Order: sequence, then C-alpha cells, then structure tokens
Amino acid sequence: MDKENVISLTDRPMWYVKEKADKYCVHKLIEVDQDERQIRCRTCNAIVDPIDYIVSLATEEKNYFSHIRFLKEEIQRLLRKRATIT
Ligand SMILES: [Zn+2]
Repeated sequence: MDKENVISLTDRPMWYVKEKADKYCVHKLIEVDQDERQIRCRTCNAIVDPIDYIVSLATEEKNYFSHIRFLKEEIQRLLRKRATIT
C-alpha cells in the first residue's frame, strides 16, 4: 500500500468545538421572535432553549415569593418584639 494515500488520524482533529460567544452571559435581555418561534439573547445573540428560559423565570418567581414570605414573617416578628418593649 502506498503510504502517501493513507491519512493518519493524527493529521487533523476529529472534532471542532466552536467556542461560545460569551461564556459568562446569563441571557437576561431576551428577544422573543414569534415568526421564528425562537428565544434569542440580545446580549450574546445565543439561541436560548425556551424550556430552560421558562424554568429560569419560574425559579426566579418562586424565589421572589419565598423572599416576600420571609419579609412578612420578619415584619410580624419585629412587631411582636416592639410590642413587648413598649
Ligand atoms: Zn446571552
């Protein structure tokens, strides 16, 4: 066999991995394209998975409600404490 016609596996990489445009973008500024039915980050231009985005919104909303509940409980605790002082 002629060696010049054999391509060695070490001649070139098997995979090419494209680097992310912005590795640290959290995709907070979102554009919803109704025609393309896609969600795109306006900061890094990445296409965002709609389910991942909905999950992040739901998680954020759940955290807000937990925070509000904590603050209401803290207000009640402080009001009770004030009542014992005065
Ligand atoms: Zn982004």
